[in-house]
Amino acid sequence: MHLRKHNIDRHQQEDFDVLVIGGGINGAASAAALAGKGVKVALIDRGDFASSTSMHSSNLVWGGIKYMESHDFPLVRKLCKSRNHLIKHFPSTVQEIRFLTTIASGFRYHPRYLWAGSWLYWFIGNGFTKIPHYLSSSDIKAREPIIDTAGSVGGFEYSDAYLHDNDARFVFNFVRSAMDRGCAAANYVESLGAKREGQRWIIQARDVMTGTSYEIRAKVVVNAAGPYVDQHNALSGERTEHQHVYSKGIHLIVPQLTEHRRVLAFFADDGRLFFVIPMGRRTCIGTTDTRVDSPDVQVTDDDIRFVLDNINKRLTLDTPLTRDDIISTRCGVRPLAVKASSGGDRDFLQLSRKHVIDTDAATHHLSIFGGKLTDCLNVGDEIVAAVKELGVEVPYGDYVWYGEPHRAVREEFFHQARLLGLDEMAPHHHEALSTRLWRRYGAQALDMLEEIREDPRQADVLIEGTEYLRCEIRQAQRREMITCLEDFLRRRSKISLVVKAEEIRNAPGLREACEILFGDEADAKLDEYLASAQAQSVEERLSADAQAADSQVNNPAHSETLKWR
Ligand SMILES: Cc1cc2nc3c(=O)[nH]c(=O)nc-3n(C[C@H](O)[C@H](O)[C@H](O)COP(=O)(O)OP(=O)(O)OC[C@H]3O[C@@H](n4cnc5c(N)ncnc54)[C@H](O)[C@@H]3O)c2cc1C
Repeated sequence: MHLRKHNIDRHQQEDFDVLVIGGGINGAASAAALAGKGVKVALIDRGDFASSTSMHSSNLVWGGIKYMESHDFPLVRKLCKSRNHLIKHFPSTVQEIRFLTTIASGFRYHPRYLWAGSWLYWFIGNGFTKIPHYLSSSDIKAREPIIDTAGSVGGFEYSDAYLHDNDARFVFNFVRSAMDRGCAAANYVESLGAKREGQRWIIQARDVMTGTSYEIRAKVVVNAAGPYVDQHNALSGERTEHQHVYSKGIHLIVPQLTEHRRVLAFFADDGRLFFVIPMGRRTCIGTTDTRVDSPDVQVTDDDIRFVLDNINKRLTLDTPLTRDDIISTRCGVRPLAVKASSGGDRDFLQLSRKHVIDTDAATHHLSIFGGKLTDCLNVGDEIVAAVKELGVEVPYGDYVWYGEPHRAVREEFFHQARLLGLDEMAPHHHEALSTRLWRRYGAQALDMLEEIREDPRQADVLIEGTEYLRCEIRQAQRREMITCLEDFLRRRSKISLVVKAEEIRNAPGLREACEILFGDEADAKLDEYLASAQAQSVEERLSADAQAADSQVNNPAHSETLKWR
């Protein structure tokens, strides 16, 4: 909390080169790139970092094989290169994974045609991954017995990548990297709009936790508000060439369906790609693609029925999945960039998923439209170039702002972990403790070893039913700007994705976690969490959402933002 307070003080005392509005992947990567290259930058998000679209993705880092069908080869090439770059620079976080794709009889393409396409995809991606394979139905069954191959005519296996931990954690690590390089980042600070005065912007900000308003001064504004970019531009009087249309997508998290670490890909009843994605001891299934008019969306009964029906039709599980198997849900909108003049009328499933940065050189304002997690390094680099073009000095232009720590640091960590017997301290964990700590905390994991050496209790699991250690929660308290319990449970960790809400609520260690995270405010923060929607079971939340949806018809304005003008 000190960190957040200090950064909010800085917002009021300092003049910034750039203010980034929105701490999803686009804002986080922009802030990390700018800060790394020596630009004086601030970052705000009206919720927690990555609390909007960027925590609801499929966790895939992929070259967009499905965009080959719409012949968007330049986009596929760009995304494949980004994917390769991320695998290379984040080897413990972004990992290659096989996609086993099953084709049903009567599908619009024969498996051999699609297999040929997967070779083209492989070439477009510079042959960076393992080669594709053609598979007969019996090959598929041998590789993955839970797939129902009765109606299948074969398929193929190819490679892309996925985020081992979680999209929100991936985003936070960029925010943290920006803070390490001087960025004044704060979550739960909302921009109520910005006005240009002379050579600078005055941004009206509101600390959502206290309700206090204050001003932030910056030469350049980067609007990275994701699905809310248009809304914020309207508040600041900015007109742009592009705007957003929205596509809603949901995922369901269920118990682990298969022990094999690969993505199972199918074409759902609506003809779209549909995935079964590994998530540790859980499985993530989805997604959907529904055009919606507002970015504020919830999982509905129809969404759940669609996902369950489709998965049950394609797998031969001992007992079909039902609503009772759902541990948690994910639901967000893809912000898709369209030319404002087009009115967004094109067939939206065919809309390109590429990002666009609109620059208003007269007012020094940038808006980021669209994009993907996979594209984040390009977004960061392009924002630095655009800011430079607007006349802001970039003192360390050659600095490489992304990537895991140097190999020597990694080797030292694993050596010390071996000497300490770290992995033996958690023999029943899903993966080796040293591997997980390194992936999540990088060089900071060395400090955690020191804590465990001083006090072996630091290696104990604190919240029963999870694999998170006491020292991780202390680390989160110091460095991860945990403002509400859900920030830790859902975004810095993935506890509330993989453990049912009722189990978390009743976990005895939850109180101690709050004491570590919030000190004197522990009781208040725990009560706040227990009273929140996040602490409800999926069933409780669905019925509450349904009631809320009924009462919010024709009232899309849930935010203070719309009240400001
Ligand atoms: C179902 C689904 C699956 C997807 N799967 C993948 C995938 O597998 N791989 C991939 O690469 N991409 C995927 N994507 C796309 C990707 O998730 C998004 O493109 C990306 O997360 C968008 O990031 P963003 O930073 O633009 O927006 P967001 O993550 O929404 O961030 C915008 C932030 O701005 C903040 N904000 C808004 N208004 C204000 C304000 N007034 N003041 C302060 N802050 C504000 C919000 O709180 C929010 O945190 C998927 C998307 C969806 C919906």
